[in-house]
Amino acid sequence: MDTAAILAEIHAELSAREDRGRVADYIPELARVDPAQFALSVVLADGSQHSVGDARVPFSIQSISKVFTLAIALGRLGDRLWARVGREPSGHAFNSILQLEGEGGRPRNPFINAGAIVVTDAILAGHQPKELLGELLRFIRDAAGDDDIHINARVARSETRTGHRNFALAHFMRAHGNLENPPDLTLGAYFHQCAIEMTCDQLARAGRFLIGAGGGPRLVSPGRVRRINALMMMCGHYDGSGEFAYRVGLPGKSGVGGGILAVAPGRAAIAAWSPGLNAQGNSKLGTEAVEMLARRMGWSVFG
Ligand code: GLU
Repeated sequence: MDTAAILAEIHAELSAREDRGRVADYIPELARVDPAQFALSVVLADGSQHSVGDARVPFSIQSISKVFTLAIALGRLGDRLWARVGREPSGHAFNSILQLEGEGGRPRNPFINAGAIVVTDAILAGHQPKELLGELLRFIRDAAGDDDIHINARVARSETRTGHRNFALAHFMRAHGNLENPPDLTLGAYFHQCAIEMTCDQLARAGRFLIGAGGGPRLVSPGRVRRINALMMMCGHYDGSGEFAYRVGLPGKSGVGGGILAVAPGRAAIAAWSPGLNAQGNSKLGTEAVEMLARRMGWSVFG
């Protein structure tokens, strides 16, 4: 069966699902999103793209933005970044403050909120948030080959008003000397990066730089592609990362907007979107869709 037929089959099967999880409501703007939406898009290494469902509806990429800021940070700071953030799975919720206390304000990895705030702080150094956000949008637009990608200011404002846990994390790290900028400044940039909106079609295309083996634009070196994929595999789904690796077998990064970006190295970039989340804050139907696709295509980094 070809890729388009497999996607159509997955779409038909998942359309019948009644339990779609719960839409994130701790960011009020996200609570307004219609949970009935679903999309899946795949870009193969040869550049061909196949999509089903609401693949042209923009959604809030939220934590998927952390993949792009990490790529920029590694380009700018190289291995110096690792003095401030680790590379281990956390086994804790995305917004947990628990480990920070015991580990001196150095977050476990760049994909939990605390780690992503440090990464944003690191690339903010000496720049205004506007400049950083401009650079980030340029990176994502280049990766996707599409200039029609923007920040939703309402979502950013909504999270700025309610993001008390992120303020707590930032202040805590500042107290430990692991935040160089005032927390308000770093979080202003962080909330806006999370509020970038993309369609599933755009996100799959933006993921091509992670396919490696000449499968997309070369925005970072092949060695970095491998390392970013390793981090996505170990840490991309918070305390659901082990489950995602077990079920899907591919590196992936989720966001509370219900998006998932996954990579089949050497073969494809995959984007899935469905706003309802599971208990770990990862898209319920999105995870199922990527799992079904990986299984039917025979894609797994584990053989
Ligand atoms: N902006 C969200 C937060 O910081 C991102 C979380 C996520 O997508 O997992 O809470």
